[in-house]
Amino acid sequence: MVESLILIRFSLVPELPDIVVYIEALEKRILGRRLEHVGIASPFLLRTASPPVKDAEGKTVVRLRRLGKRICIGLDNDIWLVLHLMIAGRLHWKKRDAKLSPPRGLAALDFANGTLLWTEAGSQKRASLHVVAGEEGLSALDPGGIEVFESDLERFAAVLTSANHTLKRALTDPRLFSGIGNAYSDEILFEARLSPLALTQKLKPEQIERLFAAVRNNLGQWTDRLRQLSRDEFPEKVTAFRPEMAVHGRYKEPCPRCQEKIQRIRYAANETNYCPKCQTGGKLLADRRGGQECPPYTSIQSYSIPSSFASAFHLPSTSERVFASITISSGQGRAKPSVDHLRVASMPIFDP
Ligand SMILES: [Zn+2]
Repeated sequence: MVESLILIRFSLVPELPDIVVYIEALEKRILGRRLEHVGIASPFLLRTASPPVKDAEGKTVVRLRRLGKRICIGLDNDIWLVLHLMIAGRLHWKKRDAKLSPPRGLAALDFANGTLLWTEAGSQKRASLHVVAGEEGLSALDPGGIEVFESDLERFAAVLTSANHTLKRALTDPRLFSGIGNAYSDEILFEARLSPLALTQKLKPEQIERLFAAVRNNLGQWTDRLRQLSRDEFPEKVTAFRPEMAVHGRYKEPCPRCQEKIQRIRYAANETNYCPKCQTGGKLLADRRGGQECPPYTSIQSYSIPSSFASAFHLPSTSERVFASITISSGQGRAKPSVDHLRVASMPIFDP
C-alpha cells in the first residue's frame, strides 16, 4: 500500500485591511439607510436565537464597525448584525432585490437603494451571522486583542510580551492583537526585519519599537492600497494572496529588498514566509511540522472516495489557520490525488 500526503493551502480569512475597506464601502451605501428585509438562505448561517433577526428589520443603520475580523452593522434600536466571512464568505453590492440563490447565496440584506448579498463558496458553510443587543452583545464576541492603531508602544509591548511565544504566533493570536492573520503577519515581520520564530520575551526594546512601527505602517499602507484598488466600487477582489506582497505566498521567489530566495516554515499544515537574509541573519528555519508548534489533531474525518481512501485531518491552531491534509492510500501503486480528493481537502473546516 502506498501513501502520499498532500497539503493543501487555502486562502485565508480577510484581515484588518480587507475588513476596513469592506466597512468603508458599506458606510457609503447603507449608513443612514433603512434595512427593509433580511433574507437568510442558509440554515447554518445564523448562530443566535435572541434577539430575533426580525428585530433588525425596518431599522436604520446608524453605525458600522470592525470587531477583529468581523463586520458589525449597528441599527437604531441598538441591535447589531455581526458578520464573520470566514475563508470563503464574500459580500457583494447588488441592485435591490438581487436574487439569493443557494447554496452559494447565504443571505441578502435589502435596502431601498440596493441589496447586500452575502455568498460563500464551497460546500462547508463556515461563515456566521450573530444578532446581538448592545455593547454587551458585541463584547461577548470580542476575542479581546488590542487595536494596534489605538495603542501606544507601551501597551503594544506589554501585550506582546505577556507570554513567551514566537512572534508569528503572538501576532496572529486574536486574543492579543485584533485583525492580524497569516498573510499580514508575514508582511509585518518582513518589514520589521524580524524572525517569525523570535521569542517575544527575548526581544530587545528597539526590536519591539521596530515591530510596532511595522505593524502600523504595514496595515495602514495595505488599507490605503486596497482602498485605491476598490475606489468607488464595492470591493470584490478580496484575497489573502496579492502579487504586491513582499514575502507572503512568495516561496522561492526573490526578496524585493535583497533578491535572496524567500523561504518558508511549515508547521502543522500552515506556512510562514520570510527572507533569510533580511530576517534571520541568513539562517534557514527548521520545518516545525511535528515539532512543538504543531497543534494536536482535534478531529479526523474520513471520506470514502471510489477506488481509494482519503482522510482529512483537521488542524486548528490559532483561529484563522484553516487547512486540511489528506492521505491517500491505494492498493494499486501510487495514488494520485484526484479532483475528488482536492474537493475534500479544500473544504474549510474550522471556526475561529
Ligand atoms: Zn531580503
